[in-house]
Amino acid sequence: MDAEIIAVGSELLLGQITNTNARFISNHLSELGINVYYHTVVGDNAARLEEAIKIAESRADLIIFSGGLGPTKDDLTKETIAKHLQTELVYDVDAVKSIEAFFEKQNRAMTENNRKQALVLKGCDVLVNKNGMAPGMIYDDQKRTYILLPGPPKEMEPMFQFEAKPNLATRLHEDAQIVSHVLRFYGIGEAELEVRIQDLLDQQSNPTIAPLASDGEVTLRITANAENSEKAWILINKTKKEILERVGDYLYGVDDDSLSSKVAEILITNHLTISAAESLTAGLFQSELAANPGISQSLLGGMVTYTEQVKKEQLGMPKEILEKYGVVSAECAGAMAHLVREKFHTDIGVGLTGAAGPEAHGDQPAGTVWIGIAIGKDQPATYRLQLSGLRNTNRLRAVKFAFYYLIQLLVKKGYSKDK
Ligand code: ATP
Ligand code: MG
Repeated sequence: MDAEIIAVGSELLLGQITNTNARFISNHLSELGINVYYHTVVGDNAARLEEAIKIAESRADLIIFSGGLGPTKDDLTKETIAKHLQTELVYDVDAVKSIEAFFEKQNRAMTENNRKQALVLKGCDVLVNKNGMAPGMIYDDQKRTYILLPGPPKEMEPMFQFEAKPNLATRLHEDAQIVSHVLRFYGIGEAELEVRIQDLLDQQSNPTIAPLASDGEVTLRITANAENSEKAWILINKTKKEILERVGDYLYGVDDDSLSSKVAEILITNHLTISAAESLTAGLFQSELAANPGISQSLLGGMVTYTEQVKKEQLGMPKEILEKYGVVSAECAGAMAHLVREKFHTDIGVGLTGAAGPEAHGDQPAGTVWIGIAIGKDQPATYRLQLSGLRNTNRLRAVKFAFYYLIQLLVKKGYSKDK
């Protein structure tokens, strides 16, 4: 099944808002294994909207509209579709009641144009709007399916996810099960990862493999479609195994894991404690880690040691290290990790130092980062990064790399990865 999304709204064309609805819908359609080949954006203009509908009909079996279901003059999506499909609009009794109730609750008089929001395409399945007034619709003719959704994301997103999507899933695959599984990678670029699994991407059909990159992470969503979930999982696991044979070294988690949640999970399950001394990240490592519930038993504390003086006075950094190697160095990062571990009496100490940018730090170019990780009495492990983003991107990347290396070290040391 091939889908096209038509987002209606002049404000999208004027650059006033971003088309997040298309992104949201596409993301969910890919989970269903539905191909999306086109995103169209069209202004609030009946003639151009009809033109866009005709084009979409020439290349899609499922056309999803967002926007233009409201009460005002420029909201003309359903009127245009009704005219185009030569069908009528009729009042949906439940929608009328809920709009009336809404005005009553607000103690306001309802105007006639508000009643218009309860008009739906005759014969459609109505999608209830739990967060607004205009209902959505799923309409079938002999050839295609049309889904109409309101524009505001807080109305559209739950309506699509909880009403339209299950409806689509059952129509598409009567008793089939669609299962999807996300693999999460770090430390490898999207291009490199795709090259390594290019043949798998080329030959994919069921399961499908959808790559996505953001914030330095790469994810692969594997989606399988089978008569029951057990069979779907067999397909998924076979593909997963093939993928991991190529790029398994970079895998840090699955599904809803994040780098920081994975670190938290390993620390908490293994009763490990951690502290950090942070220079360029100034607390970001600890802040990201603290986002995970239950972490207080593992994250005991830490320090922001921004200047050389504070590193010496508060952390006890030997001045020889700073003089001989400089603050952006493996020696400094390693010593920060070791010293903070001792100071806070934790199992693990992490040190982060570097030049976030835009300026270089002496002869160290902007984006040079050193991460030190001390586990127990071991010699601290150190890692150099050469990042190329803007200042705050580099700071966040540094934290993510610290999580990633920490996961690798802990797994290598035999700490279990799973709950
Ligand atoms: P309303 O009843 O609020 O008028 P509507 O269904 O008529 O809803 P629009 O008038 O097209 O929808 O858009 C209302 C608001 O929803 C926009 O101002 C914008 O904030 C948001 N919106 C619309 N389309 C999109 C989109 N494609 N992506 C993200 N937000 C959108
Ligand atoms: Mg509107």
